Amino acid sequence: MTELDLAPPGPGEALVRLHASGVCHSDLNAIDGTAETRCPAVLGHEGAGVVEAVGEGVALAPGARVVLSWLPSCGHCEECLRDLTHLCTTAWLEMASGGLLDGRPRLSRAGEPVYHYSFLSTFAERTIVPAACCIPIPDGVPFEIAALAGCAVATGTGAVWRTAGVAPSDRVAVIGCGGVGMSALLGALAVGAHPVVAVDVSQDKLAAAEALGATHAVAWEGTPEATAARVLEVTGGGVDYAIEATGRPEAALAAFLSTRARGAAVLIGIFAAGATIPLPAMTIPRMERRILGSVYGSSRPERDIPALLALYRAGRLPLDRLVSRRLPLEAVEEAFALMRGGDALRVVLDLEVAA
Ligand SMILES: [Zn+2]
Ligand SMILES: [Zn+2]
Repeated sequence: MTELDLAPPGPGEALVRLHASGVCHSDLNAIDGTAETRCPAVLGHEGAGVVEAVGEGVALAPGARVVLSWLPSCGHCEECLRDLTHLCTTAWLEMASGGLLDGRPRLSRAGEPVYHYSFLSTFAERTIVPAACCIPIPDGVPFEIAALAGCAVATGTGAVWRTAGVAPSDRVAVIGCGGVGMSALLGALAVGAHPVVAVDVSQDKLAAAEALGATHAVAWEGTPEATAARVLEVTGGGVDYAIEATGRPEAALAAFLSTRARGAAVLIGIFAAGATIPLPAMTIPRMERRILGSVYGSSRPERDIPALLALYRAGRLPLDRLVSRRLPLEAVEEAFALMRGGDALRVVLDLEVAA
C-alpha cells in the first residue's frame, strides 16, 4: 500500500470513504496493457462508500451512503442530447485523460501527478470523484452489493434489458460467466427468457450458473464452431440473443454462430485494440443475424442503479450470489490472481476489513 496526496473536493466533487470495491476484468486489462491506461494510476471502478465532504454546489450531504458510477454524463454533448448518456463524448474523452471532468488529476505523490481510473480509483481508502458519479444507496443494501451494481451488474443486466431488449421466452446464451456474464444471466432469467444457456471454460462457473437458474451449461468445446454447435443443439436451433462477456474474438464468433435467424450477438467484453472478428458474411443478410455493441449496459446509472438495488432488496435479483470471495484491500494482488485463474465470479475488496 502507498500513501498518496488527495486534493480537497472542488466544485461539483465529493470525497468518498470507500467501504467495498469489486475487482473487474477492466482493471486487469489496464494492468496487462489490453486497454491503454494513463499511468501511474489508482485502479478500481466498482465501489461504494460514504460521502465525507463535498465541494461547492453539491447537494449530497456528508454521511450519505453512495454507489459510484464510472460514467458521469455532461448533459450537453450530441450523444447526451440524443439520450445516449452512456456514450457521452465529454466523459469518455476525460476518462482517457486520467483526470476528473476538467482533465486534471486530484491525486499526487511527492508533487507528481497520479491518475484516476474511470473517474473513481476505488482501490483506496478514500477517493475524490465527480459528484455526478455518486448515486444514493437505498436502506438495507450492503456496500458490497451496491459496489457490484456500479459496474458488473449494470453492465450485464443492461446489456440484456436495455441494449438487447430481451423479452419473455426469448432464447438466450451467455458466453463467459464472470461477474458481468452472471449478471446478464440473472437479467435474462428475471425477464423470463427461456432457455438460458451458460457457456464457459470453467466447470466451477458452469456449476454456479446452473445453481443460479441457467437451463443448460455448455463447456467451451475448443473452437467457436464446435461450441456454437452445442448451443444450437441444446436450444433446438440457436438463440435470439447470445451475450458475449469475455472480450475474446473467438468467444464473439461463437456468440454470433449461436444465433438463430434474426438473432443478435451482444458484445460486452472489452477487446484488445486492433482485434477483429471474422464472420461468415452470407448469413448476415440471409438470416438477418445482427451484432450489437453494449457499453455499461446502455444504462443511465442514476435511473438504473437504484432500480437494480430495489430489485435486489425485493428478492428478485440475488446479487449476493455473485460475490465469490472477500479480501482486504492489501490483498488486491491475490484478487487479480483469482481472476486470472478463471474460476472466481466476483472478488470484493472489503475496505472495512482494511481500515
Ligand atoms: Zn468494470
Ligand atoms: Zn455528454
